[in-house]
Amino acid sequence: MKINSAKFVVSNSQVDQCPKNPFPEYAFIGRSNVGKSSLINMIANQKNLAKTSGRPGKTQLINHFLINNNWFLVDLPGYGYAKVSKSNRREFAKLIKAYFTKRKQLICAFVLIDIRHSAQKNDLEFMAWLNELGVAFYIIFTKSDKLKEDQIKATVDQYNKDLEEYGWLENPKSFITSSTKYMGKEELLNEIERLNQDVFKSQ
Ligand code: GDP
Repeated sequence: MKINSAKFVVSNSQVDQCPKNPFPEYAFIGRSNVGKSSLINMIANQKNLAKTSGRPGKTQLINHFLINNNWFLVDLPGYGYAKVSKSNRREFAKLIKAYFTKRKQLICAFVLIDIRHSAQKNDLEFMAWLNELGVAFYIIFTKSDKLKEDQIKATVDQYNKDLEEYGWLENPKSFITSSTKYMGKEELLNEIERLNQDVFKSQ
């Protein structure tokens, strides 16, 4: 898919106030510093569409970006900040739960994982939670420019092994990306295009 336009639409702290348009949408989420803003900027072909993290954990908002005037890319707040208070953490949990349970336009989530780190408990728990809610999700490994080809393969294989422990019917499909090297963009956008086509056909 070619990106012809990408615009920031709105930030919300309430799911009920998110855009009413029936466009299919895709939620991007991950731990702080995972490279989410950089990935969104890479997808959108813009330097500063999503802000790269200045003050992690400060704002917990749902950000809608309209892409090609027919689908939404949704930037969800990051989780796993060391310095966030308990009440902030509770707010985050409430907002995310409301989003994933109420948002009808959501087609699937993309969970971002820094490829340099082995599977972390809160990432795995988050995926298990999505699975329980019945939310389809993919994994996006970020910063793959930091590893060599064989290290990438070993990390992804190990990650899949860790996920197998959960006994899901199928492990989530994953994408290997690097925002600095513009890697993985086409595969990711092709998948979104494929999913969009299914939605548009059924409308
Ligand atoms: P966010 O907090 O998840 O939005 O993460 P950012 O996009 O702000 O990135 C966090 C840090 O990782 C920044 O210093 C980025 O420059 C760096 N970063 C993000 N993506 C990549 C990548 O693909 N490769 C490398 N080497 N660094 C990256």
